[in-house]
Order: sequence, then structure tokens, then C-alpha cells
Amino acid sequence: MEKYLNLEKQFGAQNYKPLPVVIAKGEGSWVWDTDGKKYLDMLASYSAGNQGPRQPKIIQAAKDQMEKITITSRAFVNDQMGQFLKKAADLAGYDRALPMNTGAEAVESAIKMARKWGEKVKGIPKDRCNIIVCENNFRRRTITIITFSTDDQYRDGFGPFTPGFKVAPFGDLEAIEALIDDETCAIMVEPIQGEGGVIIPPEGYLKGLQEISNRHNVLLMFDEIQVGLGRTGKMFCFEHEDAKPDVLILAKALGGGVYPVSVVLADNHIMDVFTPGDHGSTFGGNPLGAAVGIASLDVLLDEKLPERAAELGEFFSSSLRKIDCPVIKEIRSKGLMVGVEIKPEFGGARRFCEALMDRGILSKETHVTTIRFTPPLIITKEELDWALDIIKEVFAELGQEPIK
Ligand SMILES: *Cc1c(COP(=O)(O)O)cnc(C)c1O
Repeated sequence: MEKYLNLEKQFGAQNYKPLPVVIAKGEGSWVWDTDGKKYLDMLASYSAGNQGPRQPKIIQAAKDQMEKITITSRAFVNDQMGQFLKKAADLAGYDRALPMNTGAEAVESAIKMARKWGEKVKGIPKDRCNIIVCENNFRRRTITIITFSTDDQYRDGFGPFTPGFKVAPFGDLEAIEALIDDETCAIMVEPIQGEGGVIIPPEGYLKGLQEISNRHNVLLMFDEIQVGLGRTGKMFCFEHEDAKPDVLILAKALGGGVYPVSVVLADNHIMDVFTPGDHGSTFGGNPLGAAVGIASLDVLLDEKLPERAAELGEFFSSSLRKIDCPVIKEIRSKGLMVGVEIKPEFGGARRFCEALMDRGILSKETHVTTIRFTPPLIITKEELDWALDIIKEVFAELGQEPIK
């Protein structure tokens, strides 16, 4: 294992701080390191792995497509893309879907769409559109996206930034409404902040955002890259409040843990702002990605993974809440998206993640003090039971005495 850790250290840009485990294989809810040690995967690649590693139907779809054609470019039409876009659009209830690859590209695409809609449809003067986003949003990617980061580290050294964003506190409807002016084209939020530490907004927030965006003629855009596709116990997070946004952004689990696939979904009156040449992607909508996307959605539906996330998430989080340990500040959860916030005097969440790793559970700290548990949605109750025993042990061991 040392060998691989050293290769990463020596030759990789050091833009990550991984736990020191080298994964070589995965099956079901489990992964194995290069020494053959087995771990329960309770991160699922930040929800890119909702369907579990190497899900057989998704792998089969990818293999079948690889035997035919994998990339055609958008200079031509391929036989997979249309079927995939129809499936995604029908499932979420939109007229059209714009295919991209990664989440960051889909967010950028949504921003372009909103701005062009602002100028061409709403009539905002040229180069004046603003978009309202929330503090503590997902960061660290493109220049435009880090522009609206509210964490200094993610901006430090990367300027100059993209103008046209305003930042409101997350969960505060009045603050958002107060920021809206005649030049606001959109509000873009994550319905639950994942990277931000599994932050769940107050009940009614999503519905409230919908009302505000309707009242002011601005587009409501939800980034469901992490929380969509079953994770929170519904296929889409907006369904918890029946608050369908004007624009929905999906990625991560749309690629079934195999291949990067993302889409931006919207109805005709918004998507139609794009005309040939406006926007594009060489790999976006390629037949391999589209075939994988179709299979990924089919598996979520056929295996009823959102329902499973609701049921097992309830079991897991209520069991965690029964653990009586002074280290736990708060447990936040929706479906199988669970954050356990550790009190600051216990030295951060990473120690806990390392101890869990030693005992065969992979999870990752987010925002220093929160342990995030987002297992694949195929996990079983027995596996969660096993994990709960270990989690209890680790809390009991590390969580009795504050360390600073
Ligand atoms: C992961 C993530 C992104 C970025 O997706 P990439 O595929 O890494 O570009 C954007 N928004 C949210 C909420 C995410 O979780």
C-alpha cells in the first residue's frame, strides 16, 4: 500500500488530503485495499456511487455500448443520447435536458442558461445579470464557481473572479428576497448542503424559494448533484416539499459510479435560449455516457433505491441518535445522507474517520467537525448494524475526554 501512497504523493498535484487507504476493488457495499483488507464504503464517492460499485446492470450496459460505439461528438446524432435525455427529462418532469459530463460543467451551463434567459427573456440589460447563491455552497472548482465561495481558502490565490453573484445565508428566505433586484436572473441553491456539512434548511425553505422566485420572475435552480437521485429518500430532493425548480442540475450518481454524466433540466421556454453554437461539450451526450446514464436511472427505479434510502436512512440515523456520547454535538440527516457533528473540543472529525478506517469503515470528514455517512443506497440493514457497533466503539474510545 505504501508504494501507491508514495506515488500519489510524489507525482500527484497535492490538491487533496485523502485518508491513507489504497482501494483496489469494490463489490456490493464493500471495497478492498491493495493488502486485501475489506472496508464498508460509507462515502460512496460523495454520492457518485449511489448504485454501489460495479452495479451489474450498469456495467453490462457500458460493456454492450463499448462493443458498438463510444463517442460520436455532437457533429452527428447518436442513437443513445435522445433516449437518455428523454428518460432524465420525463423522470424529473421537464421538457428538455442538456447533457454535460461533470457536475461543475453542468453548474456552469446552468449559469450561462440563466444569464441568457435574463437578458433575452426577462430583458435585463447586457452584462448586468446577477445570480443569488447561498453561503457555504459547494466550492473548489471552476473560477466562476469559486467566485461565490464564502470560504477564503477556496478563493485565496485564484482571483480575479467572475462578477454577477450575490450571497445570502443558507436557510434564510428573507435574506434571499432582500437581495433580489431588477437585474436578478436566478437563485441557485443546493436543497441540502452536502459539502457544507450536511446542512438541512428549515422546513418550508424550498417551497418558500419557489414562491419568491415566482413572485420576482427569477429562475429557481437547484443543484441536486449530490442530494438528487435517491440519496435523501426521494428520487429528487425537491420532492420533499413538492417544490420543483425551474432548472434542475444532476450529475454524480447519474453516471452510476462508472463514468461522468451530468445534465441540466429545464422546460422549453428556458432551454430554448440556447441556439446552435452557444454552448457545447465534446464528450457531453456521448453514446457510452448516455447508455450508462440510462442504466443508472433504471437501476435507481427498478431497485427502488430512493425508497430504500428513506427506510434505511431512518433506521441508521435513529440508531445513531440513540448513542449516548458527549462527543456528538448534532446529528443531521435526510435519507441516507447523514452528518454527525463532533463538538469542536474533541479535535475534529478526521480522527474519528481515521479510527473508523482502521476498523473497516470508510467515511470522510467535511467542514472539519462533521463526519459524513453517505453509503451506497444498496447497503443492507445488517451492514448498517455492523457499522453501528463499530461507530459506537469509536465514539466510546475517542469521545470521552476533550483533547483540547
Ligand atoms: C460534486 C458536486 C459538484 C461538482 O461535481 P463534479 O462532478 O465534481 O464537477 C457540484 N455541486 C455539488 C452540490 C456537488 O456535490
